[in-house]
Amino acid sequence: MASPSLIPAHFIVFFVVSRLMSIIGNLRPSKNSLPCEIDSLGVHAKLRYDLDAIGLASTDYGNIVHEIPSAVLYPTSIDDIIELIKFSNECPLPFNVAARGHGHSVRGQAMAHDGVVVNMLSLKKHYKNGNGIRVSTSGNYADVGGEQLWIDVLNATLEHGLAPLSWTDYLYLTVGGTLSNAGFSGQTFLYGPQISNVLELDVITGKGDFMTCSKDQNSELFYAVLGGLGLFGIITRARIVLAKAPKRVKWVRMIYSDFSIFTRDQEHLISTKGLEYLEGSLLMDYTPANNWRSSFFSPSNESQIISLLKKHGILYCLDMVKYYDDETANSVDKDVQMLQEGLNFIPGFTFMRDETYVDFLNRVRCGEITLKSKGLWDVPNPWLNLLVPKSRILDFNAGVFVDIIHRQKKTTGPLLVFPLTKIVWDDKMSAVVPDEDIFYSVGLLHSGSFNDWQDLDNQNNEILEFCDRAGIKTKQYLPHYKSKEEWIKHFGPKWNTFQERKAQFDPRMILSPGQNIFNYV
Ligand code: FAD
Repeated sequence: MASPSLIPAHFIVFFVVSRLMSIIGNLRPSKNSLPCEIDSLGVHAKLRYDLDAIGLASTDYGNIVHEIPSAVLYPTSIDDIIELIKFSNECPLPFNVAARGHGHSVRGQAMAHDGVVVNMLSLKKHYKNGNGIRVSTSGNYADVGGEQLWIDVLNATLEHGLAPLSWTDYLYLTVGGTLSNAGFSGQTFLYGPQISNVLELDVITGKGDFMTCSKDQNSELFYAVLGGLGLFGIITRARIVLAKAPKRVKWVRMIYSDFSIFTRDQEHLISTKGLEYLEGSLLMDYTPANNWRSSFFSPSNESQIISLLKKHGILYCLDMVKYYDDETANSVDKDVQMLQEGLNFIPGFTFMRDETYVDFLNRVRCGEITLKSKGLWDVPNPWLNLLVPKSRILDFNAGVFVDIIHRQKKTTGPLLVFPLTKIVWDDKMSAVVPDEDIFYSVGLLHSGSFNDWQDLDNQNNEILEFCDRAGIKTKQYLPHYKSKEEWIKHFGPKWNTFQERKAQFDPRMILSPGQNIFNYV
């Protein structure tokens, strides 16, 4: 693979724009593919057909799939979305509708070929008509519009000294977008994914009905929508659990050369009280120790790590975080020491950073800004995210990390691996996880170029084939499959419920065509 850093930024920008223009040019949206009665709707004036709107709606972070919608709705209130969906239901041949949050999907999941994409961020500009972010007087929760970015939720709740408990590593994602998948990070082993931290939702179903739902009210819709890939309804409000926000964090990274010792320590730590965050990642001898996702090491630490990498080829980083504030500032170092007792990282290879809570949570933003300035953000990103049962994680390491990824030396993107606990996931929700008490999140966050991303995708396929052959029962996170059989296998025992819920809440199969589950398979 050509090293991305050698490609001039202006060339990449030019390449992306011209490629998109050629795709859109060939497939110019036709207003005619929507029924002409659409012009008599109140929302008519909020539908856009111009290249800027269509171009944005047919692109996502993945930069691999481009589906051209007929129009893009820029709603100023949730009534606009209701009107659009009801209208589609009334048509003899309904058109598809997809909510687009911040478009950080990697395989066109928020797109709608020949349909209408709803640009959810448009509601943010019309705050008073949307849902905004409102912290309850009790301080136990915030009511948040589905269109809101998590960074804005963080900033608004911090004004009250509060914050949500469960996060993603990157905060420029919408509430509706992450709740449609699961939303997890290093806090998840303790607090559950973001979908486990929601008390109530307002949803516009595929029939255009506006419904409030929770575990006690319209519970079938509540469970369907959480992790439901946008297939049952559009989330317009989520009631998110809040707690007192810490002020600062101690962020510790320890280095291992032995994967079984590394995972044993990770599993030990998630069963220990007093830790708020745990993740893990891999370093390979052909890539730099720091990457866009994490520039943790100082230059002198980096040279130490590079010598160690020369010896071992692959190293494993265990990241753990302890929150603290004024009351606990004096005891936090001792608490960290106690957490480290009995751990078997390479002696001397432990590094600590002291950060504000906000800087820690928003740590990926710096990497994004740097990559954007070099034109390396808007490149193809053929990511593969897997959930791997704990019982097979050592086989996964040998077969995938060592024998495919390290041997082929194709990917330079971040490689994440850390354990999650099943007990904090609610099985009634649509999200699917492996059937073991502990499973590992594996994130292969590859970035490629427009010429060679298929090489990385072929590697992804090789990894999936290896897991199949070895009988490692992984589940994809942010799943994408080409056939109905694969989807049925993915959902396993949940498939029938999933289908029944679709028939109940979106019988004409209007919503979320980009997931390719009901519309094209
Ligand atoms: P979009 O891509 O816009 O939409 C995703 C899906 O949700 C689509 O099917 C869309 O139709 C649907 N949707 C969007 N809004 C709504 C709504 N209001 N109601 C119903 N359906 C809706 N995920 C994690 O869990 N943890 C991480 O740490 C993490 N880090 C990431 C870092 C980066 C840099 C990126 C690019 C992604 C990361 N993700 C992570 C994945 C991310 O959570 C998902 O891709 C998420 O869907 C992105 O949110 P979005 O607002 O961009 O959604």
